[in-house]
Amino acid sequence: MKLEKGEGPEPLDSGARRKIPPVICYPTDSLAPPDLPAYRAARDGWQKVDEVIVPPRDARTFEVPAGSFFRIVSIEGPQVGDLNLWSMQDLKERFFSGKTRALHGTHLSTGDRLWSSLPYLRPMATITQDTLDWYGFDEWGGSVHDVIGTRCDPYTHRLLSGHDYHHCCHSNLTRALAHRLHRPLAEVEPAVHDVLNVFMCTGFTRDTGQYFMKASPVRPGDFLEFFAEIDLLGALSACPGGDCSSEHSSDVAACHPLLVEIYRPKAPPVGWVSPARSAYHGGHGEEAPS
Ligand SMILES: [Zn+2]
Repeated sequence: MKLEKGEGPEPLDSGARRKIPPVICYPTDSLAPPDLPAYRAARDGWQKVDEVIVPPRDARTFEVPAGSFFRIVSIEGPQVGDLNLWSMQDLKERFFSGKTRALHGTHLSTGDRLWSSLPYLRPMATITQDTLDWYGFDEWGGSVHDVIGTRCDPYTHRLLSGHDYHHCCHSNLTRALAHRLHRPLAEVEPAVHDVLNVFMCTGFTRDTGQYFMKASPVRPGDFLEFFAEIDLLGALSACPGGDCSSEHSSDVAACHPLLVEIYRPKAPPVGWVSPARSAYHGGHGEEAPS
């Protein structure tokens, strides 16, 4: 049980303890930064090979071969999107929101990478352009494209409201994946995972540390652009929260479609190679597998 503030005895040196400066948990200095000029140069003469419209309060899947780009584009009106990514060859390798947050911070932008789950832990995609990068952090500590929220889902909605709602992002992503794989909902549901909240504006309240949302600054024409580091299967849900200015998990908010565009460059970025999965052998202190 979490103690109420004041219930735990405060030590005499509490002030000094609070003054200890923080240390970054996962310094990323040892990681080679993405060669953004090379990625961007690869866009010259690229060709749009596919596009997918994601209807409001619904989700769609899309495929992006390694070495290609995709954009998530705002059209018609402000709208938040919930993104899932899997390796095309193995659904067990999926986007790892928590470790991406630990490595890059609570909100992603240009140059950040979307890392895959253990035991793979490699970049699945690199963000190569973000038209909302002007936003930064606002006076409440809010920013866009977070990896702190999980996705709206009917279980939490049931827990908090006692009602059922069937078009939460979790359900939308589950339906889209089931249709794509021609498998039953219950079979694919465990593959749906914590998302990148594209265009969503969020943060934590300073007084209680609670997750908050506010109206997304996104406007039609804004986009978030990714380079696919490995062959990707993606799914995007147009959240029932719309711009997430008031509520989600209902049909109350004004919702708009989202557009996913897939672009194939003439040639891969100079010097780029698709990253290998983690070199850790999986021994975990026991005998290393042969
Ligand atoms: Zn949602």
